[in-house]
Amino acid sequence: MARYTGPRCRYCRVERTKLFLKGQRCYSDKCPMNNASEHGLPGKEPRARSKKPTDYGLMLREKQKLKRTYGMLEKQFKLAFVEANRMAGKTGENLISLLERRLDNVVYRMHFACSRSQATQLVGHGHILVNGKRVDIPSYRVKAGDVITLSATAKNMPSVKESLAEYGKSGIVAWMTLDEAQMTGTFNAVPRRSEVKELENINEQLVVELYSR
Ligand code: SF4
Repeated sequence: MARYTGPRCRYCRVERTKLFLKGQRCYSDKCPMNNASEHGLPGKEPRARSKKPTDYGLMLREKQKLKRTYGMLEKQFKLAFVEANRMAGKTGENLISLLERRLDNVVYRMHFACSRSQATQLVGHGHILVNGKRVDIPSYRVKAGDVITLSATAKNMPSVKESLAEYGKSGIVAWMTLDEAQMTGTFNAVPRRSEVKELENINEQLVVELYSR
């Protein structure tokens, strides 16, 4: 499976906002976005690209932000949009519901991994069970009521234990429940757009407009 392997902090600098792509580091002093001097665009001539953005540029940036937050490549993201567009209701809200149902995202939100990229790895390496069956497809669509567990190996991984420790501090999103002792979580319902606080700074309507041009 193709994936981006370059520096993820660069994405935050391009979008000029924190996209929280590196787990705990994003909440620590080590995040370069906490340092005003690092806020500029990356590259040798960033000023050449810092003029007032066009309407197209604004739409493109919103799409990139959303796509990068969920760690997706263009083709996968476009396919999700096409599917969201076919569904009843608002396309932008449908898109976010579909992205939230991705198995790697669910694993991340249950605190089994400290970032979505780490969650993608856990899934890809076969450490995740959905309703007792191993699923190794990160884009697998989780349904309301699905129970997510870890393999015996993953339950003993220091990175998983470290990540679960975060649960005690920040809790879990309203549409999931977690049994920390059993390392088992339930995806109780598909979230509504307004519930996904992490995306408050993203205007998904601009993504719809971009793909509708
Ligand atoms: Fe973005 Fe996290 Fe890097 Fe900060 S540490 S720039 S939030 S990926």
